[in-house]
This record gives sequence, structure tokens and C-alpha cells, in this order.
Amino acid sequence: MKKLFLSAIALMSFSGCTSMGVASDGYRFQNRQWTNHEFRVIVKEYDSQKELTAAALKVDVAWRTHITRAFASVDRANNTCTIHLLKPEFKWLPQWPGHEIGHCIWGNFHPSRR
Ligand SMILES: [Zn+2]
Repeated sequence: MKKLFLSAIALMSFSGCTSMGVASDGYRFQNRQWTNHEFRVIVKEYDSQKELTAAALKVDVAWRTHITRAFASVDRANNTCTIHLLKPEFKWLPQWPGHEIGHCIWGNFHPSRR
């Protein structure tokens, strides 16, 4: 059930591509850094931008993305991906859960940041 849900999120995230290959999140898929189809997901929600940014600065990860909206921290050794998001009651940004799951599955799939 969890895998089906995650697959649905990933598909939703990338189904809104334009002719330029840029999706609704403003990014395009460039290449996969890795492929990981099975992993543990932890979701952390924050009440404000300030809290999200502070959390991003504390997380020791190989790389962080999208600190101002959401970010994923990937722990490959423990096969765990943590997705950090603003609470939807604070700011509704539905494209970011799918985008960050994409980082869990494919790593840094947009190295040029677009
Ligand atoms: Zn990204």
C-alpha cells in the first residue's frame, strides 16, 4: 500500500510537464543519480518558513534541495529518506511532496537546478 501511494505521488509530480520538459514545480528531470525503489520514508512538517530553514541548516546530509519550500535528506546507509515540508495549513504547496520523493528514488535528478 505504501509503495502504491509513493508511486502515485511520483507520477502526479511529473505528469504536469510542459513541452519544454519543465514540470509544475519549475524543474525538469535531467538524469538519475541512483535508483531506489524500496526505502523507509519519514515526513517532518514545519509550522513556518523559519522553522523549515532552521531544520535544513541542522541536517547533516550529502546534499539538500529547495530549502525555502521543502527538502529531502537521504540516508543511503540506512535506506531512509526524510522529507521536510511546510504544513499545508501554513502554505499549500502540493508539488513538493512528489518532487522530494523523486529525490528519494533518483537522487539529485536535476543537477543544474532546472
Ligand atoms: Zn529537487
